[in-house]
Amino acid sequence: MSAARDEPRFLVDRMLGTLTRYLRFMGYDTESAHSIRPGNAREDTILLKRAEQEGRILLTRDRELARRGGDRAILVTGAGVIDQVGQLAGRGVIEPELRMTRCSLCNEPLRAASAAQIRGSAYAPEKRDDLVFLWCRPCRRLYWAGTHARNIGKRLSEEFGKE
Ligand SMILES: [Zn+2]
Repeated sequence: MSAARDEPRFLVDRMLGTLTRYLRFMGYDTESAHSIRPGNAREDTILLKRAEQEGRILLTRDRELARRGGDRAILVTGAGVIDQVGQLAGRGVIEPELRMTRCSLCNEPLRAASAAQIRGSAYAPEKRDDLVFLWCRPCRRLYWAGTHARNIGKRLSEEFGKE
């Protein structure tokens, strides 16, 4: 896999929580407006400023915010997450492939889980032979390439697969 130098990074508004998780499952560095306290009247301005400072593409369902963001913003129009992913893939912004390199909850890059972390997790599957386990340190959360990830991967390859 090539280095992350040309990878787009995203900042996503509150309306697009599912898209945020999908982008993280696809390995994209994706921050959410949820990190801003709700009810802040200046939220739009904060988002625009942060996108610019951090070199992130702002994804929003808000037409006015997209307009203010200019080149740095994309108005996301799809009704469901697959349409939204399709819109970004269609514009060549992302490669819709499951990579499981980031925590879908907090955006932290995942690292290989230790045997103790796997053992210590109440919800790790019993049959582990051909599973790859990953660990999010801030969330203390175990991930594995199992059912949930496979379903998302399958959905993406059905929709966007190149075969
Ligand atoms: Zn996490």
